[in-house]
Amino acid sequence: MWTASSVLNPKQREESLNALRTEHFDVLVLGGGVTGAGVALDAVTRGLKTALVESQDYAAGTSSRSSKLIHGGLRYLEQYDFKLVREALHERELMVTTQAPHLVKPLSFLYPLHHKVRERTYVGAGLALYDALRGLQRALPNHKHLSHKKVQEIAPCLDPKIVIGGIEYFDAQVDDARHTMMIQRTAAMYGAHSLTRARVEELIREGGKVVGARVTDLLTGESINVRSRVVIMAAGVWTNELHEKFGVKSNYTVRMSKGVHILLPKSAIASETGMILKTAISVLFIIPWDNKWLVGTTDTDYTGDKVNPVATKEDIDYILREANKVLLRPLTNEDILGAFAGLRPLVSQSKAALSTKTSREHMVDRAEPGFVSIAGGKYTTYRVMAKDAVDAAAPDLPSTLVDSITKHIPILGAPGFQALVNSTERLASEFGISVESVNHLLNRHGSDIFEVGALITQDSSLSAPLCDGLPYLRAEIAYAVSHEGAMSVIDVIARRTRISFESGDYGRSVSDAVAELIAPILGWSEEQKQASLVEFLAFAKSESESAAK
Ligand SMILES: Cc1cc2nc3c(=O)[nH]c(=O)nc-3n(C[C@H](O)[C@H](O)[C@H](O)COP(=O)(O)OP(=O)(O)OC[C@H]3O[C@@H](n4cnc5c(N)ncnc54)[C@H](O)[C@@H]3O)c2cc1C
Repeated sequence: MWTASSVLNPKQREESLNALRTEHFDVLVLGGGVTGAGVALDAVTRGLKTALVESQDYAAGTSSRSSKLIHGGLRYLEQYDFKLVREALHERELMVTTQAPHLVKPLSFLYPLHHKVRERTYVGAGLALYDALRGLQRALPNHKHLSHKKVQEIAPCLDPKIVIGGIEYFDAQVDDARHTMMIQRTAAMYGAHSLTRARVEELIREGGKVVGARVTDLLTGESINVRSRVVIMAAGVWTNELHEKFGVKSNYTVRMSKGVHILLPKSAIASETGMILKTAISVLFIIPWDNKWLVGTTDTDYTGDKVNPVATKEDIDYILREANKVLLRPLTNEDILGAFAGLRPLVSQSKAALSTKTSREHMVDRAEPGFVSIAGGKYTTYRVMAKDAVDAAAPDLPSTLVDSITKHIPILGAPGFQALVNSTERLASEFGISVESVNHLLNRHGSDIFEVGALITQDSSLSAPLCDGLPYLRAEIAYAVSHEGAMSVIDVIARRTRISFESGDYGRSVSDAVAELIAPILGWSEEQKQASLVEFLAFAKSESESAAK
């Protein structure tokens, strides 16, 4: 049944499960990362009957572990990939202005210069091109040359003997896990069904065509044969193993590269702006993250566990070493509040074939009738990737298939956001919370602030912060399970909020309070609550111990 509700919660999960059992879909999406959520939104807004299954939680894979930049990618300019940069910059402008202004925020970066004249000319020309490639839509300011003195003023952390000037430019930032979940909620609003903790086991084939997939509900063990005209797989780093398991002869493979970030307190780096530092192999970003710094990343080949990749001491030493090359006060291990690792799905074509469309950095492959897989690309270009995947499935879909319209579809919470930003004091008095909390809520929920506010109106104890030192309100923890599809303590601490890397103890000190708040909403028994806490503590242990090894 078309529920036309953006709510993701246990009741909605039950309804979606029932739909999987009984209905015949146009598109079944495998994978609830940003690519899969984007595909679900693209498909459902073209009028296709759509369902998505995710084996873990929304964004539990790479889509919660990126650098969280919505950017054109300066390094692609050096590779002369102007088409990719132009496309990504176009997406950036779209997200900052109309698609997700509540979630995607402009951010200034300083490119520190080490040599006079030549370097300034070279980098300046690159950044002029970066600005120009945006086309006529220009939401973000142009780049600006800064003197030695000005750089010292805005970034006193930089060693003035090493950094002799700089150039400021703009990109944008997003909380990736939150944004992915909001895309899925938007898809739900247009009628897409979705389910986490549901794993695709095998494809169902009839008459030489894929006609659906067998899905296991990981909460009960129930096996369901889901019927669909096409299965679109967006499995990121799981692509190779699933191609093999499903007996699909694909024309591309995915290589994993690990990237690590560390979190530092604001006091560790004196700067008013983010920074991009060129390294021997790539770049290192120093990115403002609320009132902290996110610093990364590494780029190393990886073959280990895909579910829980972790930062090692070697990764962290590399990040500290690279940052310390320009900093006056060197960073040490004692500065680090937390760390996380993610796996880049890097695609390469295994053999030339007509069915494989190599598109920029991502691959779309219709290896068999009724089965399309997509992987690679950037978080920033998820919308274009999703459109390409649904376009590739056209031979399996009704001939009345219309063009993608996601360019014109704002993400949930975007409509009305600007008007609410102009009304923060009124909202604060309406909900009995500070203007600071209103700003925090607006930048995470946009116009859905009213739903969070309604919880506070029903129970004023939810207006209190979850803990000291972090901005999350108790209402947001309740809302994470009542509206945002969180189903465990880990979902709330690691993805609906980012407490796992922001708190300094990987969220251990708030885990009991989180479990207390969500247990009644999820209808948990004491045993289920304890099991979720045990699962969380194992996660926190693996995240914290690995970095110390
Ligand atoms: C360190 C790092 C930094 C990055 N920084 C940036 C950046 O700043 N900007 C940018 O634009 N891009 C960045 N990226 C790239 C970007 O994060 C990825 O391209 C993007 O998140 C990939 O999303 P995805 O949906 O394809 O994969 P994923 O997010 O990994 O989603 C795949 C999903 O499939 C699910 N799945 C697997 N098997 C099954 C099954 N059998 N049944 C059901 N579900 C299944 C998984 O659980 C997973 O959730 C970065 C990547 C890394 C690693």
